[in-house]
Amino acid sequence: MPYDEALERFEPVLGLETHVELGTASKMFCACPTTFGAPPNTHVCPVCLALPGSLPTANAKAIESTIRIGLALNCSIAEWCRFARKNYFYPDMPKNYQISQYDEPLCFDGYLDVEVNGQTVRIEIERVHLEEDTGKSTHMGGATGRIHGADYSIVDYNRAGIPLVEIVTKPIPGTDRLAPEVARAYVTELREVMRSLGVSDVRMEEGSMRCDVNVSLMPRGASEWGTRTETKNVNSLRSVERAVRSEIERQAGILAGGGRIVQETRHFHEDTGTTTSGRSKEEAQDYRYFPEPDLVPIAPDFAWVAALKTALPELPRLKRKRLQQEWGVSDLDMEAMHNADAIDLVEATVSAGAPPADARKWWMGELARRANEAGVPLSALRITPDEIARVCAMVAGGALNDKLARQVLEGVLNGEGSPDDVVAARGLQIVNDEGELSAIIDQVLADNADAADKVRNGKIAAAGALVGGVMKASRGKADAGRARELILQKLGVSE
Ligand SMILES: [Zn+2]
Repeated sequence: MPYDEALERFEPVLGLETHVELGTASKMFCACPTTFGAPPNTHVCPVCLALPGSLPTANAKAIESTIRIGLALNCSIAEWCRFARKNYFYPDMPKNYQISQYDEPLCFDGYLDVEVNGQTVRIEIERVHLEEDTGKSTHMGGATGRIHGADYSIVDYNRAGIPLVEIVTKPIPGTDRLAPEVARAYVTELREVMRSLGVSDVRMEEGSMRCDVNVSLMPRGASEWGTRTETKNVNSLRSVERAVRSEIERQAGILAGGGRIVQETRHFHEDTGTTTSGRSKEEAQDYRYFPEPDLVPIAPDFAWVAALKTALPELPRLKRKRLQQEWGVSDLDMEAMHNADAIDLVEATVSAGAPPADARKWWMGELARRANEAGVPLSALRITPDEIARVCAMVAGGALNDKLARQVLEGVLNGEGSPDDVVAARGLQIVNDEGELSAIIDQVLADNADAADKVRNGKIAAAGALVGGVMKASRGKADAGRARELILQKLGVSE
């Protein structure tokens, strides 16, 4: 059913479960390194392979990071809690259980405020808990990369045991037609909170942050929530938004046709923007949770938690509000910079000495255009905030105009060196030598005698063509204002 019609008839309720791999040096319960991209099964040991007799030890840094995440999300921190065994068989999990947390999460009852279309939406957080990641299965020989139709599967345990934080929202009603945007804004904001805390590299494309999106619909005016589906491991911000939209359209179509929604997990497909059915959850799984007997309970010291709270960095939303005031930009401009992931880049450029308006102009204009053309984020462009600040300074000092500055940026992006290198190598300095400029003007006046006569006879508008001729002859390096002054002076007229 088309989105607009679906929203006329039904109200969506969202829920988001986000997994974040912590950027600790070692795994959650052993000393194996956690670096991404190592050859398969080289970051393993008896503990994370669950060999008989091996015993886990909790990673203190991971516990600290989880508490800091909880504090940043306005959660209460448990005075005492335990790890729990979640028992199930899966080939990428050598223990045949996962060490997780069950009814005693480390952090609970928080919230995160996000901005959508200038509105503040409060997302309530149910819990933040700590667990270990599984290994990674790769299914070979099939068309889809999924287990169905595969010839065989291989397993890499490097990821098994990497500390994983799960952040679960309470059900989110009332977002109405903004549901897809709210979901995206929440995951975006959460990612920025993680970044500001420095607890994870939150690279969705590498799987260090992944999101399960729950959606249910209820008929308008109903009081009881519908059956939800859970779309697993959505791995980009854009896909979060698309997954919500596509589930709303799909479920509305089924409900309107008199069908019912099956409680199940679903897979999101980037190519079509739709979801397909995964595993049915109609029969509740019994994971036989029980307190993990190989680990001591966690009882964070009050004073330590208070110190962690005091030491939290300025959180992204407050920082944006402060920068917006300092830079004097509108809500819309700020939101545009936020959506383009440009705020840190503009801030660094301003720190390097550029006026905020100039820094914003280049990042959101020329550079955004080039990033868009290349299909990469702004931060992936091969140019630094320092280099942008240098170009701004050259424009402010009169050595470059905007047109030349764009050529300098192009040179830097092409790997031709620093802005100064590019100016020198390409000869891009504005012509400041009056003698040189005067000679160019004389030539242009001689070549355009008709236009020159018109100006002499008082038709000053014709001077525009002459200035254009000077800019062309100087290959854009003349100061157009000064050229105009000299042309009028030479032709004996004044404005
Ligand atoms: Zn290990």
